[in-house]
Amino acid sequence: MTATIGVLALQGDVREHVAALARLGVTATAVRRPAELAAVDGLVLPGGESTTMAKLARTFDLIEPLRQRIKDGMPALGTCAGMILLADRIEDGAVGQESIGGLDITVRRNAFGRQVDSFEGDVDVVGLDAPVHGIFIRAPWVESVGGGVEVLARVGSDAEPEAVGRIVAVRQGPLMATSFHPEVGGDARVHGLFVDLVRQHA
Ligand code: GLN
Repeated sequence: MTATIGVLALQGDVREHVAALARLGVTATAVRRPAELAAVDGLVLPGGESTTMAKLARTFDLIEPLRQRIKDGMPALGTCAGMILLADRIEDGAVGQESIGGLDITVRRNAFGRQVDSFEGDVDVVGLDAPVHGIFIRAPWVESVGGGVEVLARVGSDAEPEAVGRIVAVRQGPLMATSFHPEVGGDARVHGLFVDLVRQHA
């Protein structure tokens, strides 16, 4: 089937996700309004600034429609700030920071920032036969996951000691999230996993 995948386009690196999806031959559209959300089969929540995106989602009357579609089983991929938006629980969030939720995980915002703001490293991802080059930019990590959550990736042993072994990619049913930015650098394999999920749930 031909799936239409939306990219939440309130703020953040929207264009890079649209380009990654286009490389896979998927129709990708920007989502800013409830009617645009209603028209997509799956949604990417990009990296950027989770506090800004959450505020804009409220301003644009999107936060409740987003929660409802996720509750109804719409596949979603959150990357970095998008992972924070999909998390049920946020540590080190801004005061009053809202999430959309759906993923039974606790994320720690700007987690790696206590040691280094940004770094790159190879990440083994379940379902891919060669590592992904992970780009982490003021990224969250996953502190803990609920019973229905599959851990897809952890930080490798070449990272800072505090970061080694931290969970940086997860899946729960049709929801996926990564701490890193798979949209940067021309490797669309993580998006490919998500497109498979969308097709399975369509
Ligand atoms: N630190 C950002 C936040 O809290 C996320 C950074 C990113 O998406 N690259 O939303």
